[in-house]
Amino acid sequence: MSIAKGRALVTGGAGFLGSHLCERLLNDGYEVLCVDNFYSSSKDNIAHLMGNPRFELTRHDVTFPLYVEVDEIYHLACPASPIHYQRDPVQTTKTAVHGSINMLGLAKRTGAKILLTSTSEIYGDPLIHPQTEDYWGNVNPIGPRACYDEGKRAAETLFFDYHRQHDLRIKVVRLFNTYGPRMHPQDGRVVSNFIMSALTNKPLTVYGEGQQTRSFCYVDDLIDGLIAMMNSDDTVTGPINLGNPGEFTIAELADLVIEHTGVNPGIDYLPLPVDDPVRRQPDITRAKSTLGWAPTIPLVEGLTRTIEYFRTSVLG
Ligand code: UDP
Repeated sequence: MSIAKGRALVTGGAGFLGSHLCERLLNDGYEVLCVDNFYSSSKDNIAHLMGNPRFELTRHDVTFPLYVEVDEIYHLACPASPIHYQRDPVQTTKTAVHGSINMLGLAKRTGAKILLTSTSEIYGDPLIHPQTEDYWGNVNPIGPRACYDEGKRAAETLFFDYHRQHDLRIKVVRLFNTYGPRMHPQDGRVVSNFIMSALTNKPLTVYGEGQQTRSFCYVDDLIDGLIAMMNSDDTVTGPINLGNPGEFTIAELADLVIEHTGVNPGIDYLPLPVDDPVRRQPDITRAKSTLGWAPTIPLVEGLTRTIEYFRTSVLG
């Protein structure tokens, strides 16, 4: 029997990003321990990994301590789409804060390297554009998005304090909007909403006038970035932005989905959600120079793959 490359824990491993990460780590020769409470994820995402002898699944909520032996911890667990994280906002903050404390405690005991997937939401409704890691953000601390934004900000604080106080090997990345196969079809995110609407011939729901912008990164690129960050020198702590700098208005995205699904059911304009950021675009200079990482998959190509996934695996 071949010796595994190491033992990696992926919290939130049955989620959209987590499942892709588990798959990649298995392909790279790791033993993978996937931990998930299935709050916003699905066993379907990891069903194809269950037969692999190097893959292990544990149902566990990271707000409770976890005792396992691992070499690397990818700490992803947290509902991440606005409708999921706003459904039980107190639990969202607990997941971000208590979950991080528990996983940092695990890293401290085992000596494992630990990576946090933080978020572009920590920049709030940004006043500088594009967003660099040096920008401290513009977050409403008492609004409906605060449970996630402030939860992740507190998680970053904890990571850096554990690093300074206990010499933990930490890695903090800030993920911008990511899309691709295995996005939850009902998570309310713009890419999945638009594709689902078009493929079921219902009007695309554009919030506001659709002039707000986002930058969309295809999942395979993002996973490359997570792996590069984990494998970087111990002196590299981050924070580092990971995202695709291509910036699009939501109206432009709607046009692209209509064009590439070949279905035009029209557009419904709905009210803009509270505290919805107006512009978002990562500055990835640091990721390029420190990790040698940059995304390679343009939006149209990634959208085409994602549309195909929704057509065949979700609606097929
Ligand atoms: N949005 C939209 N229609 C939808 C879902 C989202 O116009 O059906 C907008 C939303 O208001 C936001 C952007 O698309 O400006 C991205 O929303 P999403 O929930 O995907 O992610 P966010 O970046 O806001 O966390």
